[in-house]
Amino acid sequence: MLLIHANIVYSEDRAHLAVYPDSYIAVEQGRVQGIWPVFPEKYKGAPLTDYGDGVLIPAFSDLHVHAPQYLNRGLEMDLLLADWLDRCTFPMEEKFADPEFAKAVYDAFIDDMIANGTMHACVYATIHEEATSYLLERMDRKGIKGFTGKINMDRSASAGLMEDPMDSLQKTDAFLEKYSGNRNMRPLITPRFAPTCSRELIQGLGRLGRKYQTGMQTHLVESRWEAEQARVLFPECSCDTEIYERAGLMENGPVLGAHFIFPSEEDIRILKKYDSYAVHCPDATTNIIAGIMQAGVLLDGGVRIGLGSDVSGGHHIGVYTQAARAVQLSKLKEFYEPEGNRAITFPEAFFMATKQSGPLFGNTGTLEEGAVFDALVIDGLSDAARKLRPEQVIERFCYIGTKENIKARYLNGEAI
Ligand SMILES: [Zn+2]
Repeated sequence: MLLIHANIVYSEDRAHLAVYPDSYIAVEQGRVQGIWPVFPEKYKGAPLTDYGDGVLIPAFSDLHVHAPQYLNRGLEMDLLLADWLDRCTFPMEEKFADPEFAKAVYDAFIDDMIANGTMHACVYATIHEEATSYLLERMDRKGIKGFTGKINMDRSASAGLMEDPMDSLQKTDAFLEKYSGNRNMRPLITPRFAPTCSRELIQGLGRLGRKYQTGMQTHLVESRWEAEQARVLFPECSCDTEIYERAGLMENGPVLGAHFIFPSEEDIRILKKYDSYAVHCPDATTNIIAGIMQAGVLLDGGVRIGLGSDVSGGHHIGVYTQAARAVQLSKLKEFYEPEGNRAITFPEAFFMATKQSGPLFGNTGTLEEGAVFDALVIDGLSDAARKLRPEQVIERFCYIGTKENIKARYLNGEAI
């Protein structure tokens, strides 16, 4: 068991943080037993870990990240999406045909993700099944909870990444069969996005989704270019999201649509119908996509939104940085387009990065009683001249903190 003294902060709901200064939390068999303002007598004699002024928070969830693009972070950030894919992303992903190269990159990616406090993630791999299996198994062994998938694409990709649709479906079938029983890291169907997938491929993936009761991650209404391409290539669909609904890909498990920058009413209706997630990736939309999600009004409209680092469209693997950036971008959105937009608050951004996303990975993303204890201790951000309140420490961490400010990490109730 664990008995910890710290300041404790988690999301109570979308608008409010629960704050327990100078308190005690007990964890047994990996689950939170409760929080007390004074030492709980029933744990008398149990070893106490005291983090002093440190602030204990739930670990972060990254709902959209590309592991093979890890080496590209912070490079070629002056390109826009189509050019960036052709000149930067696809050439890198081609290298993952070499399993030894893939292992070296994936090891570094996973270690850095954990160091930055992300314990749950929805991860894109490449089209290559051997490298993708390595990624899933390595994350699974580390105890990270999440999803990953072999990317599917059979058009408009570089020659080295272009798949034959039947071959792509066969390999995906084998991947899903092999890992569908996994507990920590599970497989997810991963069509890159509509412009790189034929109708035949999307429909085949729909059949696999039903066969294995597996959900999907894709880039959804990612940019004006992407949404227009989707409508040209699938003229029978009124919007990007309908492509996946018609294929039966929305109804078998969690669905994550990254970016969701320019959704139509129909996109929003379909996403909500299946309790799917829109994933906000503020750095990526600034760097290469050139659009800002209407996070405030989508939240008000009942859309579930999580945050994604989107490495390497985004340049920083820490989801905490994206919580700060989400607030910044929402203020710009409101400033430039005040009609129908509103800025979000810091508690809303923290909610998206933790409690809103946690249920995808079990009972986590919170420190409420019964939750799986995936948690971080944040420290080293106070001023000499005055003490910050616990919630202020967390806000400052998201703006100016680094992984050095994460003093302890817990995953499944164990210190790591
Ligand atoms: Zn992406």
